[in-house]
Amino acid sequence: MTTATPPHRIPYRANLWALRSLGVRQVLAPSAVGSLKAEHGPGAIVVPDQLVDRTSGRVQTYYDAGGAVHVSFADPYCPTGRAVAVSAARSGGWDIVDGGTLVVIEGPRFSTRAESQWFARNGWTIVGMTGFPEAVLARELALCYTSLSLVTDHDAGVEAGEGVTHEEVLRFFATNVTKMRSLVADAVEALPQERTCACGSALDGIKLPFDLP
Ligand SMILES: [Zn+2]
Repeated sequence: MTTATPPHRIPYRANLWALRSLGVRQVLAPSAVGSLKAEHGPGAIVVPDQLVDRTSGRVQTYYDAGGAVHVSFADPYCPTGRAVAVSAARSGGWDIVDGGTLVVIEGPRFSTRAESQWFARNGWTIVGMTGFPEAVLARELALCYTSLSLVTDHDAGVEAGEGVTHEEVLRFFATNVTKMRSLVADAVEALPQERTCACGSALDGIKLPFDLP
């Protein structure tokens, strides 16, 4: 999401820890992304089911000392949260894409044309700067995590894409932010009170070096 803090400086660990400390267990994460597919243009909402990490230098674990903790991350997103988000977006009349791969780049610069073409050739769907390490940190705290990715433009490597500018992204996001807020509110309303997904068991059988809040 567009913010005063650049994406590579967001305190991801502190944010997720704070949510968990407040009793939050299900996280919906709206963000602005570029599309790597000609058919998904500005205004589409992608609810990805896969993620590729192309960041560098971001701390991506809570467990750096006191023993190794290896969480499963084969499926990085909560299946229940995804289904709820897709259904809420559909009801809200959004152009919704159920599934896809989000590649998270380090930023703050946008991709080169060659990088973007490479991402597209790999079959990846959207590119952003904020979805990682947030997703894995949520898993490390046994939280449900769902990405709601709003396409603001076509990335540089897509046929329809001329290359992205900062101004374009901000302008597009600003015109959609109210609509996005109401989508998040609808999705929150539709989330189950009790979790039946596996996210809450992510740390079962693992010896943690400290207690979680
Ligand atoms: Zn879950």
